[in-house]
Amino acid sequence: MPEPPRVDLILKPTPLHRLNRLSDELGLDLWIKRDDLTGFALGGNKGRKLEFLLADALAQGAQVMVAQGAAQSNFIRQLGAACAMQGLRCAAAAMHLPFFGAAGKPALPALEHRSGNIALDEVLGVDLRIHPDGDWEQLDGHMNALADEYEANGMRAYRMRPGGSSPISAYAFYLAAQEAQEQAGSFDAIVTASSSGSTHAGLANFHHGSSTRVIGICADTDPDMELASDVAALCAALDSIVGDDKRMVPTDIEMRMEWTGAGYSIPSAEGNAAIAELARKEGIFLDPVYSCKAFAGLLAMARSGEIKGRVLFWHTGGMPTLFVANLTRSANKET
Ligand SMILES: *Cc1c(COP(=O)(O)O)cnc(C)c1O
Repeated sequence: MPEPPRVDLILKPTPLHRLNRLSDELGLDLWIKRDDLTGFALGGNKGRKLEFLLADALAQGAQVMVAQGAAQSNFIRQLGAACAMQGLRCAAAAMHLPFFGAAGKPALPALEHRSGNIALDEVLGVDLRIHPDGDWEQLDGHMNALADEYEANGMRAYRMRPGGSSPISAYAFYLAAQEAQEQAGSFDAIVTASSSGSTHAGLANFHHGSSTRVIGICADTDPDMELASDVAALCAALDSIVGDDKRMVPTDIEMRMEWTGAGYSIPSAEGNAAIAELARKEGIFLDPVYSCKAFAGLLAMARSGEIKGRVLFWHTGGMPTLFVANLTRSANKET
């Protein structure tokens, strides 16, 4: 397969540096990859994916990018900025709590306010349509209806999966894994948040067969264990892009569920503690939906001795939701 086309959105390489105080405390050689500092639209892992998604859309003659996701989606915010830079229209169908909230439990009411990413989407001119909560299938239906609406008005639409997940998005993280290796050599373990799976897939495929363990900490409840299969499918699709034959299967994917807490976007006591710990030891902010749960997993695995040696935390960004999260309200501590 020819190299997928790419547009430039983020400043590469993103910084990679050591966390000295936490290394001492945990007895690890702990490093951090700063994809929260992409220099693009307040940072985050979606910038890398969008470099390929936008190029693909432009090659197809798209005039409007149509996304789906949570109302506080980091993806939609970064997509809005990417569309602005390329002169494309940006539209998104969203729900405050698509399927995710643990059944019957209202998750994080503060995330519904018109602040955080929603405020930034407004600044960017995103056509954000927030629907009543429902499941993924309903959200996909809303996204298609929105794309149909634009097409009825004569605009060519590019339809996307939640999180912009696709093989070319995973390819962006295959290249990112290479970027980190060029900056700092090899690690014993890389820990990242995982949700739609393309970040995890790119890193896992690149390191498959090496001595580097790639551990994804799941941000969603996944009773049917579908996410590891999704990641493995993205890894398999990556083989054909990079011309490799790794043929990864779900059991090759380390997807850890112990730090998800009560569900997507529901704060957990461990996640909140991780936010405080990284901020108070290293002056770095985590987000309350994804990276805090990943870092909580890293801290727990370091303290139990499950991960040792040279460890890289992949910071995926998400800071705007820190301003709308009510961290005092967690699954363990109802208010
Ligand atoms: C989207 C997102 C993730 C999850 O990345 P996937 O590639 O969708 O698994 C992790 N962290 C943050 C901050 C995100 O916005």
